[in-house]
Amino acid sequence: MEEIKNYINGTLAAPVTDHYLDNIEPATGKVYSKLPDSGADDVAQAVAAARQATAAWAAMPAEARAAIMTKIAGLIDRDREALARAESIDNGKPIALARTVDIPRAAANFRFYAAAIINASTAAHVSPDKGVNYTVREPVGIAGCISPWNLPLYLFTWKIAPALAAGNCVVAKPSEITPMTAFLLSRLCIEAGLPPGVLNIVHGLGPKVGQAIVAHPDIPAISFTGGTATGRHIATVAAPMFKKLSLELGGKNPNIIFADSNFEEALATTLRSSFANQGQICLCGSRIYVQQAIYATFLAAFTDKVKAMQVGDPLAEATQTGAVVSEAHMQKVLSYIKLATAEGGKIEAGGHQVKVEGRCANGYFIQPTLITGLDETCRTNQEEIFGPVVTVQPFETEEEVIALANSTNYGLSATVWTENLQRGHRVAAALKAGIVWVNCWLVRDLRTPFGGMKQSGVGREGGEEALNFFTEAKNICIKV
Ligand code: NDP
Repeated sequence: MEEIKNYINGTLAAPVTDHYLDNIEPATGKVYSKLPDSGADDVAQAVAAARQATAAWAAMPAEARAAIMTKIAGLIDRDREALARAESIDNGKPIALARTVDIPRAAANFRFYAAAIINASTAAHVSPDKGVNYTVREPVGIAGCISPWNLPLYLFTWKIAPALAAGNCVVAKPSEITPMTAFLLSRLCIEAGLPPGVLNIVHGLGPKVGQAIVAHPDIPAISFTGGTATGRHIATVAAPMFKKLSLELGGKNPNIIFADSNFEEALATTLRSSFANQGQICLCGSRIYVQQAIYATFLAAFTDKVKAMQVGDPLAEATQTGAVVSEAHMQKVLSYIKLATAEGGKIEAGGHQVKVEGRCANGYFIQPTLITGLDETCRTNQEEIFGPVVTVQPFETEEEVIALANSTNYGLSATVWTENLQRGHRVAAALKAGIVWVNCWLVRDLRTPFGGMKQSGVGREGGEEALNFFTEAKNICIKV
């Protein structure tokens, strides 16, 4: 059975305690590899390696750093099929999704930030007769990057790439639930010639490894993506240490469909935005609001499509819905479906676990689930479920749906469907969300700021925002 290793100081290393955890394949419920059960000692070794590597990496010309990062991107492309398979097994997601979204986007993260750092510039402000101010940006030193299980390699590299490009060394922790692609990345980094200590990957549990990274005094910046409760805890540890903190947290995203929308496009994309990756994308729309005039027609057409979704082995090409990530997560999602019924909801489609035949007989599968009849105040419509469960509600007016959409503590993303240009702008402006898609979903441009409002997070990733996060601005003023 494969034993995942930590990646510290350029080598693959066993954890200090030599203790390993089970890595379970969610589609089968079977242990298929082992991962290090690391702790504060391993993190201390990683920080020591990073400390040693920091000066040389920061002093390396941006072009040279970019060349290594571009090489890593090329190796991810080369190994795309193997990485997609590993991610599908680790996470339960359909292999087609891993192949077309997660893995290419991981390569794109390295390529984008390699190009960004070569093209980065800083400002100068000239005050005639007084002075010239110019801004320099210095790397923070060592960055701590902690990522979740839903888009394992994509979100891991989304943090690591800008941190490295900006001249930092990194101590990173992937989710303990999906460690395999981060392990494969460490092998690619060795192959690409990344200098030892520049990137260190420590595997293990959040409360041990994650906590040690967040609390380490030599790591001045923490970039975290995960649940809101974990983010709140991390803030309590990091804030008194005056660390830079970027928190990308949960969501409960509204998907608003006006009667004047392109019905077929809204329908097809809503199927994806509701259930892609088993609804385990922080940007999935889990509250669907449909204007009364088309509510019945939409609900009937949508219910048919949801019922027809293929649930099955994530490694089968035809599978649209794979396994949810773990047994514990499956139980959590099923408990929310039960809660929705208790709150007066009507299950229009799904609502139960699915038994898949063959090798996946003991896997964690849930039928895509559609619920109606709930109001916006109930827990089902307020709390993040993070699974293949959506609610559908009718609305009459623009004002009403804006209030419904903004009624949760979250503010990550929103989707609006309308053919009326003014309405698209108007509603997008009124929604409290860090990203609003009008007539599309999950269209991403890496140059744009990314992050949530309210309890969906603090700070922004993406483009220049990420390079700024991983650097300190310094103003130098010269008298003229
Ligand atoms: P968690 O918050 O449980 O975990 C995220 C990461 O933090 C994991 O690596 C976890 O390790 C680690 N961790 C756990 N406890 C601590 C701690 N005390 N100190 C430091 N690190 C810790 O989230 P999930 O992995 O369950 O991911 C799902 C969540 O992520 C959802 O809420 C989703 O909305 C959110 N998310 C947000 C995105 C965004 O961009 N806003 C994007 C994607 C997901 P371990 O796995 O070992 O527990």
